[in-house]
Amino acid sequence: MLATISETKLAQLAHFDTLTGLPNRMHLNQKLRAALANNQRARTAVAVMYLDIDKFKLVNDTYGHAVGDAVLIEFSRRLERCVRATDTVARLAGDEFIIVLESLTSAAQPALVARKIIAAMAAPCAVDDLALQISTSIGIAYGHTSNLTPDDMMTIADKSLYAAKSAGRNTFKIVVDRDAAEGS
Ligand code: GH3
Ligand code: MG
Repeated sequence: MLATISETKLAQLAHFDTLTGLPNRMHLNQKLRAALANNQRARTAVAVMYLDIDKFKLVNDTYGHAVGDAVLIEFSRRLERCVRATDTVARLAGDEFIIVLESLTSAAQPALVARKIIAAMAAPCAVDDLALQISTSIGIAYGHTSNLTPDDMMTIADKSLYAAKSAGRNTFKIVVDRDAAEGS
């Protein structure tokens, strides 16, 4: 029998990740575009933080996919607790997440949030009777948005994430747009 599905439910499925309830890639793209436009008008800066859980495959391989899923949910909740309600936390795919921070005036602000997130992940993750140690690597693109498109921001953040992984994981790397660094 075919079940009917409401328009509200359809919209929910199109914009939100079913596992974590976070905005998905499509919703993120819209939010990022809007954030860049709003902050350009306000002459404030935006940071795109690209996060990826360290050695997450090992969690799935050792304890199974269901435990991995529970870790993804707990990871999401911890991320949400580290940012303001006006910031966006989204799940991009797999163990990759994006946070968009808005109304920034200094690169020290996203760096502080990154340190807070890394500290928040240090507490063991309780799943069933397990206490799992997880960590994340974070790549950050920070800048004034008249210079940068959404794609630029995502590419820079992704490259920074790669640098954070190469630096040994459980750390962050930030790339600051030259004009933003000069405080314009
Ligand atoms: P790295 O530190 O380099 O990130 O190592 P990693 O093991 O985390 O490697 P990677 O990020 O490439 O692995 C992501 C893994 O996430 C691969 C896949 O098994 C797992 N994964 C992707 N989506 C899901 C999901 O919805 N649930 C679960 N449980 N696992 C997922
Ligand atoms: Mg990973």
